Amino acid sequence: MSITGRFAPSPTGILHLGNLRTALASWLSVRKAGGRWLIRVEDVDGPRCHRDLGDAQLRDLERLGLVSDEPVVWQSERSAHYREALASLHRAHLLYPCACTRKDLQLLASAPHAEDGLRPYPGRCRFRAWEGFERALRFQLSDGVILWEDRLLGAQSDDPALLTGDPLLFRRDGCFAYHLAVVVDDGAQGVDEVVRGADLRPVTATQIRLQEALGLPTPAYAHLGMVLAPDGGRLGKRAGALGIEALADRGVAVPDLLGWLGWSLGCLSEAKPCQVEELIAGFDWSRVPKGDVRVPPVWG
Ligand SMILES: [Zn+2]
Repeated sequence: MSITGRFAPSPTGILHLGNLRTALASWLSVRKAGGRWLIRVEDVDGPRCHRDLGDAQLRDLERLGLVSDEPVVWQSERSAHYREALASLHRAHLLYPCACTRKDLQLLASAPHAEDGLRPYPGRCRFRAWEGFERALRFQLSDGVILWEDRLLGAQSDDPALLTGDPLLFRRDGCFAYHLAVVVDDGAQGVDEVVRGADLRPVTATQIRLQEALGLPTPAYAHLGMVLAPDGGRLGKRAGALGIEALADRGVAVPDLLGWLGWSLGCLSEAKPCQVEELIAGFDWSRVPKGDVRVPPVWG
C-alpha cells in the first residue's frame, strides 16, 4: 500500500510540541508504508500569516529530519485554483452570499479554525440572491449524517449541520477560507491520508461534504489526541507551546525531543534519545494512544 500524507501548518507562530507530534506521526505513517510525504504551508489567511514564520517552521521540521518529498506548496500562491473551485460550486448552486457581520454571529473571527464545532452557522442567509464574488460566500451543506472511519478512533458518524453549519469558503476581505483551501489542495496533491489534531475532528464531516461537491475523493483521516501542559491544561505560552529552540535552551536536544515524541506515539517503550529513522520500525497505528498526552513536567 502506497500512501500520500502531508503536514500543513499555518505560519502564524512557532511549531509547538502538538504540531511537531502531528507532523512526526504523519511522516512515520508514510515512511512505514513507503509512500510520499508533503509539506504544505497554509498561509491562505493573509493578514495573520507571515512568510518568515513559514520558513522558520520548515527549518524546525528539517531539524527533526522531516523534509517534504516534493517542493513545499504555499497556499497563498494557489488562489486561481480556489477561485476555480468556487466557480464550480456556484455553477452547482451550492454557494450563497452571506451578509452577516461579525457582530451578528460572533463567529467570523479571523482564525482559520474559528468555526470549530461549537457554534454552527444557522443558515440565516441561505435564501439571499447571488451578488457575485464581492460578498462573503458560504457552502450549502446537504442534509444527512456522514459516516467515516478514523484510522485512530474507528467508526465515526457526524452531522455537519450540527457541528459547523454551512461553512464560509470566501471571506469579505477577499481571502479564501480554510475549508476550501484544505479540501482543494488535498485533492490536487493526491493526499490520501490526513493526520491532524483532534481539535479538527469536528470539521471532518463538513470537509467530506465539500469533497463530494467538488468530485474529490475523501482521504483516510487520523485524529491524534492533544498535547497538554504538565498539569493537564491547554498548552500555553509556557510548557509545550515551546518550540524546538526554546526546548534546546532548556537542555532538551533534538534526539531527546524525538525520543519523547516517538514514545508518545507508541514507537518506543521508553523515551530515550534517538534519530527519526529509528522510530519508523516501531510505528503502527494500532499502538498509537488514542488519548491526550502531557508534556513532561521537567520541560514545563
Ligand atoms: Zn449570513
